[in-house]
Amino acid sequence: MSLTLIKNATLVSMDSHIGNPEATDILIDGGKIAAVGKNLSADNATVIDASHHIVIPGMVNAHIHTWEFPLRGIGAGWVSSRDYHGNMHQNLATRYTARDVYLGNLLGALNQIHHGTTTIMDWCHILKDAEMTDAAIDALDESGIRAVFGRGTVKPPVTADTTPYYKIPFPRDEIHRLRTGRFASDDQLLTLAMAILGPDWGEYDVAVHDIRLAREYGLINSAHTYGRVGKRKVEDGMRRLAKEGLLGSDHNIAHGNCFEEDELKIVLDAGCTITSTCFTEMMNYEKPAMLSRMLKYGGTPSIGSDCDPYFNSSMLWVTRHAFHHQRELDNRTLHAVKAWPAATQHATHPRDALYWATMGGAKALKLDHKIGSITPGKQADFAMFDTTGMNLFAAAQSGDPVHAVVMYAEAADVKNVMVAGQWKKRDGELVYDKAKLARLRDDVLASRLRMMHESNYVYQPAANGPQPEYRV
Ligand SMILES: [Zn+2]
Repeated sequence: MSLTLIKNATLVSMDSHIGNPEATDILIDGGKIAAVGKNLSADNATVIDASHHIVIPGMVNAHIHTWEFPLRGIGAGWVSSRDYHGNMHQNLATRYTARDVYLGNLLGALNQIHHGTTTIMDWCHILKDAEMTDAAIDALDESGIRAVFGRGTVKPPVTADTTPYYKIPFPRDEIHRLRTGRFASDDQLLTLAMAILGPDWGEYDVAVHDIRLAREYGLINSAHTYGRVGKRKVEDGMRRLAKEGLLGSDHNIAHGNCFEEDELKIVLDAGCTITSTCFTEMMNYEKPAMLSRMLKYGGTPSIGSDCDPYFNSSMLWVTRHAFHHQRELDNRTLHAVKAWPAATQHATHPRDALYWATMGGAKALKLDHKIGSITPGKQADFAMFDTTGMNLFAAAQSGDPVHAVVMYAEAADVKNVMVAGQWKKRDGELVYDKAKLARLRDDVLASRLRMMHESNYVYQPAANGPQPEYRV
């Protein structure tokens, strides 16, 4: 096995036994972290000088629709989630071919690596058939990212002569094909999950069928469940599923931000995980993101980016925003009880947000035994930030590398990214054939134009829409 020795890093380990020591070495043997400590040496190791670099565990984007990457930037004028669903699922998504899915997933995954993310939960609800499914998986494989592939289904317009999507159980034959084929092993870079409708989007019997199917094949199942009273398919769905013993640590809830308090307790007592996508929750929903609110019931927040058409899906952005969002909620809560500002220290620190973005995501995906921290025995997944550039050279002198990363770092500061012992970004450049990447970028733009033309989609940025009337 090849040995790599990272020397003199400022480490943010996310492992409480290791902490955040300076001038620390990391020895990588094949795909795994072999040792972390001072003054390590190893014969025949490739030595990487990490002086003036912060090393963090690769971030985990626990909820992203990677296929949406080609449609970046079109959501500026959308007013609510109704516009998202109308434009995306009911229209543009219906124009995707297998090639479009491949392009979206490949460029989307490479973009995640570019920003220092090494693991994604690819919540892939664009898949009409096996050809598309295989194209999506091929793209993830080619990108070199670690991914939980959430095999999902489509939500096309409901017509008089077709069965509505919310009545259609998950295709068993597809799960059987994948679980006995490419995903027969869980000990590989790409693993399988089921991205199901759940009781917010599908009928109750469909949710029961899908969760049982996932359990039969030993898979995590994940559903978009906001918990908006009056707006879900099955109002008491989560309570009923809990009573029937169908909720557990294998059920991941995306959002959960509108849960009533008793419902939140029910799902967390059952062991479910919740992934917040704080940007979309802030933009489109009436209740704040589900972050620290779950702590009192023993939950661990995990975070993800969700939808590329609205904003940059960088986990650096998502993590920073999650921190700001929760700090604001903390302050408002304190103010409401006349205890603001905090007497001693704040309840939420940037290190909490980085934990959500690393260990939190790893736990939600049941991968915390392999990733999420820089711990000997775990996979060598990490990002290295160069602290000599304009953006970080002063911030990195603060003595708190977590603060420098969470509050300042951008993609340009991500110098190197490693996944399972393999460099995926090196010296600031993706490790990917440059000429091919240029061709793929052209293909993505052509695909985008074609789909927008076919769907008769008219791009209306907010600046061209009706202007609000300002009153002084
Ligand atoms: Zn989503």
